[in-house]
Amino acid sequence: MSAFFEHFSMTIDGEAIASPRTIDVINPATETVVAKAPDCTPEQLDLAVLAARRAFPKWRDTPLDQRRAAVAKFGEVIAAHAEDFARLFTLEQGRPLAGALAEIQFGAFWAVEVAKLDIPVLVTEDSPATRSETHHLPIGVVAGIVPWNFPFNLALWKIAPALLTGNTIVLKPSPFTPLTMLKLAELMREHLPPGVFNVISGGDQLGPWLTAHPDVDKISFTGSTATGKKVLEAAASDLKRVTLELGGNDAAIVLPDVDVEAVADQLFFAAFGNSGQICIATKRMYVHEDIYDKVAEALTVRAKNAKVGNGLEQGTNFGPIQNRPQFERVKNLVADTQSAGLTFLAGGEIPDGPGYFVPISIVDNPPEDSRVVQEEAFGPVLPLLKFRDIDEVVARANASEYGLGGSIWTKDVSRGVEIARRLETGTVWINHSMYIMPWTPFAGHKHSGLGVENGQDGLLEFTIPQTITIAKTAV
Ligand code: NAD
Repeated sequence: MSAFFEHFSMTIDGEAIASPRTIDVINPATETVVAKAPDCTPEQLDLAVLAARRAFPKWRDTPLDQRRAAVAKFGEVIAAHAEDFARLFTLEQGRPLAGALAEIQFGAFWAVEVAKLDIPVLVTEDSPATRSETHHLPIGVVAGIVPWNFPFNLALWKIAPALLTGNTIVLKPSPFTPLTMLKLAELMREHLPPGVFNVISGGDQLGPWLTAHPDVDKISFTGSTATGKKVLEAAASDLKRVTLELGGNDAAIVLPDVDVEAVADQLFFAAFGNSGQICIATKRMYVHEDIYDKVAEALTVRAKNAKVGNGLEQGTNFGPIQNRPQFERVKNLVADTQSAGLTFLAGGEIPDGPGYFVPISIVDNPPEDSRVVQEEAFGPVLPLLKFRDIDEVVARANASEYGLGGSIWTKDVSRGVEIARRLETGTVWINHSMYIMPWTPFAGHKHSGLGVENGQDGLLEFTIPQTITIAKTAV
């Protein structure tokens, strides 16, 4: 095996840093150790934040075009090693190789596109006497914290805009999936000034240490709502700036005018892509009663034909749940659904290990107040629900503490837009799902987040406004 898969060090101040202790990274398909990752000590965390702090003034003053080139360089480096990254991704994350490669290639594209974004200057007055313009300055040291479900792209959502706007960053991947980010930082060492991009890895204690660190100016966090609340508390004492992208329980609303066979593949993917471990996956599917049976049949056939297995094996469509604690949560939800006497149209039986495998599972019209409807499953378990009229389904879709995304499926696009405007979510897709681009703002309403990622709005979250007002009179 090449060094790409064997030696993992942190990147602090442009240097390879090992730790006295390591954490095991487990392959969720086999439950064997893929590799050992450093377990960052408090002293090493201090060094990473200090390095980012020291590098900040020079990076802030680096011309924007040079920062653009550095961000675009991420794209070049990722693309040059895409196959190795994809294999490493499958080994630690579990997603089948084709899906892993898609995330890596999308990451390269993402960096290149973010590098093209503009940092606007807003002129609010230009009268004979006065000119006022608002610039957007970098904030300082950013702490980026990411989960295990999209460990590569969600990190790039933070790294690229943070660096483009002139911040420096300390990035902390999930303890379950640190390897691709450790490797990316290693490959980028020769392309960036020391301290601009630091990646540290470690166990559960590292996130709280990082968010409590007094020298961090901004936290950009993606993860669960429960952790997001803790992050916000930790940020309060120093008034750190915070962006939170949190959980979701997205509803799809399927109107009776759709051609069921034409949309069935997309509906299936919306719910079960990445084995349901997507913040914006369809987690409740509301289907009009006139076409419910047809949709149920189309999805059930697809569920029964899907191959769930080791992502390195040819023909695998869906990988395992990524880690043991999440596997236990999904198993518990499935057991609860069964003991409530609800019917599975597909799946519902969890095989013995090794591997954290859950079959594609569809629950037939469970009650609205059942756990499988109310909770974010974050696994391949979909409640399929019947509705009769639009007011009723809008109310049901909105009756959630979450407000991340949702989708509407109809031939009548203007009706779809009308319904979309009534949904309390940051994004609504019509006749597709999960379409996310570097230029499109992405936000969560209610308990799904605070602030915005991506697009110009997301870019500005890594900045702080400074208004310069000039008196035009001669002095
Ligand atoms: P998680 O909240 O357990 O962990 C996320 C990250 O936070 C990890 O790196 C973890 O080590 C770190 N962390 C844990 N405790 C911390 C603390 N007290 N302080 C600081 N950091 C801490 O989430 P997860 O299980 O890794 O990810 C799944 C969740 O993420 C789901 O709820 C999913 O919906 C959500 N998610 C949201 C988005 C989005 O963009 N809205 C995207 C992907 C995933």
